[in-house]
Amino acid sequence: MIIDGKKEAAILRDEIKKEIESLKLKTKKTPSLSVILIGDFAPSQIYVKNKEKMSIEVGINSEIIRYSKEVTEQEVLKKIEELNNNNDISGILVQLPLPSHIDKEKIINTISPLKDVDGFHPINVGNLSSGYSATVPCTPLGCLLLIKKIEKNLSGKHAVIIGRSNLNGKPMAQLLLKENCTVTIVHSKTKNLKEECLKADILVVAVGVANLVKGDWVKKDSIIIDVGINKVGNKIVGDVQFDEVKNKVKAITPVPGGVGPMTIACLLKNTLDCFKGR
Ligand code: NAP
Repeated sequence: MIIDGKKEAAILRDEIKKEIESLKLKTKKTPSLSVILIGDFAPSQIYVKNKEKMSIEVGINSEIIRYSKEVTEQEVLKKIEELNNNNDISGILVQLPLPSHIDKEKIINTISPLKDVDGFHPINVGNLSSGYSATVPCTPLGCLLLIKKIEKNLSGKHAVIIGRSNLNGKPMAQLLLKENCTVTIVHSKTKNLKEECLKADILVVAVGVANLVKGDWVKKDSIIIDVGINKVGNKIVGDVQFDEVKNKVKAITPVPGGVGPMTIACLLKNTLDCFKGR
């Protein structure tokens, strides 16, 4: 089965839209997302435009605050504080990557954890790893929702995650632990990567190396979630050798059209949850 991320994301956006409509009637308030965009890095411009378009579609007020790449760290921190103190703003997102003179850690730590729609603030990271309520980074959250469409009860499944970034691998591991999976994280220093992958009932690949996972790395009837986005020539491909793997496994996400659309839908979900005051 090929998991249709576009379709699942559209279903999720529709649910969010309906909930926002009913909350607007009850509270007379509208969720609002402020996105800070620094510089003119082309992929960031495209992501932010998409986020704005999708936000508006579901009824979230969206504001993009643009700065040139020369903006000072002080100015951005001041703007974040202002947004933290503005009761009309439900969510704040600072689009990464940042220019080298701006300290990413300082920026993330300054965003109020209650408005941290990316789930990067240490309080959200700590809450997630303690199994408490937290805003969860959008991509792993989207991956979990896709996995649960295929298999509701993940208890006792062996999940293997390739990649240990704060953005993807680590929060994915926490989410799957919470679902009572046995979790293995592997990375660039792991020995016998193929052997580890072959143990997976659920394999999440978040690396950024085109076609890393081959047909003989996966177990029959497993679920494969391909987070990778790689440009090969003029084509976008994932981290999994899709054609070799697809007929062997129970379900697999394609690239594009798998995890990507769910990431943005989960950003809208996180904005709504921040509005509701999770
Ligand atoms: P990252 O921060 O670069 O982390 C990559 C991870 O992969 C690291 O843990 C690294 O190990 C590991 N790794 C690198 N080469 C490896 C190899 N040959 N074998 C095993 N592990 C290896 O990347 P990221 O931010 O997590 O992103 C990963 C991919 O997901 C990228 O392609 C990115 O574009 C994509 N992405 C997609 C979405 C979406 O919405 N679909 C969202 C975000 C990111 P070490 O820790 O040992 O270096």
